[in-house]
Amino acid sequence: MTDFSWPFFEPRHRELADALQGWCADNLNSRFAEDLDSECRTLVRELGAAGFLKLSVANGTNRPDVRSLAIAREALAYHSGLADFAFAMQGLGSGAISLFGTIEQKREWLPRVASGEAIAAFAMTEPECGSDAANMVTSAMRDGNEWVLVGEKTYISNGGIADFYVTFARTGDEGRGGEGARGLSAFIVPADAVEVAERIEVVAPHPLARLTYDNVRIPADAIIGEPGEGFRIGMETLNLFRVTVGAAALGFARRALDEALTFATGRRLGSGTLADNAVTQEKLADMALGVDASALLIYRAAWQQDIGGTDNRRAAAMAKLHATESAQAVIDAAVQMHGGAGVTRGVKVEELYRDIRALRIYEGASEVQRQIIAKDLLKGNRP
Ligand SMILES: Cc1cc2nc3c(=O)[nH]c(=O)nc-3n(C[C@H](O)[C@H](O)[C@H](O)COP(=O)(O)OP(=O)(O)OC[C@H]3O[C@@H](n4cnc5c(N)ncnc54)[C@H](O)[C@@H]3O)c2cc1C
Repeated sequence: MTDFSWPFFEPRHRELADALQGWCADNLNSRFAEDLDSECRTLVRELGAAGFLKLSVANGTNRPDVRSLAIAREALAYHSGLADFAFAMQGLGSGAISLFGTIEQKREWLPRVASGEAIAAFAMTEPECGSDAANMVTSAMRDGNEWVLVGEKTYISNGGIADFYVTFARTGDEGRGGEGARGLSAFIVPADAVEVAERIEVVAPHPLARLTYDNVRIPADAIIGEPGEGFRIGMETLNLFRVTVGAAALGFARRALDEALTFATGRRLGSGTLADNAVTQEKLADMALGVDASALLIYRAAWQQDIGGTDNRRAAAMAKLHATESAQAVIDAAVQMHGGAGVTRGVKVEELYRDIRALRIYEGASEVQRQIIAKDLLKGNRP
């Protein structure tokens, strides 16, 4: 567990981590899911009933506390990638409402997201544009008292089980510019208006889908913020949660290190154990270094975000980049140390090996994080 004596934390953060540890130990161990969708719905409801989902939505005018989100994701990911996913998507899916929604929109959706009654999703990526979100083509045209959405979204987490999709679409001349990032807007689209065209299977299974919007009509007041503000709304939502992707990676890496230590100290090698071997010790040292450096970067960036007053985009990018890349290396080392057991289904490090991979791609691929860091440096800002 992260060291709560670090100056980034307040006593409430340690209390939260303790509560989460207890809940995870009681609820997430030796759990078997036959049906992914119902397991995800159950996890969302259980996390809501335990009070943890309240962390992921705005409380009145207060933004979610990023340190608390990171602590929750680290703890959940340590135990279960799916539980972390269920938690994280409630925040990301409703983040635009928390940050930019009207009082009515917040009142309608956030309490249900926080209780686990409504499942949230964030629909930005399209078949022809992922990283380059400014070029999306899904359109929303105004027709009297309604918006009419036409287009397609893909790789949408919670696709197929969500109750609403916060959807980004091009509003063209209804916005400030029409072209590129300036012509986008964000909408709350109820799930029954959207068609789930395809369920997508990925290495670490979770509900994921391609969606089609075939003349979907939603009321005029379903827009979040003003027409033309969609790109900023999307990027600020992603920025709020970016550090927490790193925190999930940290949870996976910390678990891999613990699994590696247990295995290496128990596995016979010659007259001693694997852990007595100098090559193994070098690997363990590098793994510990990766874990600790990630934790420092994550909680520094989260603390900066919570206290406000600084542009922490570079720190958040560094935290996500380092934590995800380093977790991949830590987990790979743990798999290698396990030998054949490391690639055997049902062994924890094999699951972690699949769990970590997508985190280096979504919510800004590693290459995109490097660009954020480099652009800031080239503006003259030194670390
Ligand atoms: C498991 C999973 C869950 C997801 N959930 C959601 C979701 O809930 N909502 C949603 O909207 N999207 C979601 N996505 C989509 C995700 O955000 C995109 O996959 C991501 O933005 C990359 O887009 P792309 O796949 O189109 O790849 P592309 O944008 O085509 O990029 C391909 C690769 O090119 C490289 N690259 C990209 N940009 C640059 C650059 N500027 N410089 C150098 N190299 C670059 C990177 O290596 C990248 O992986 C999810 C994806 C996955 C895998």
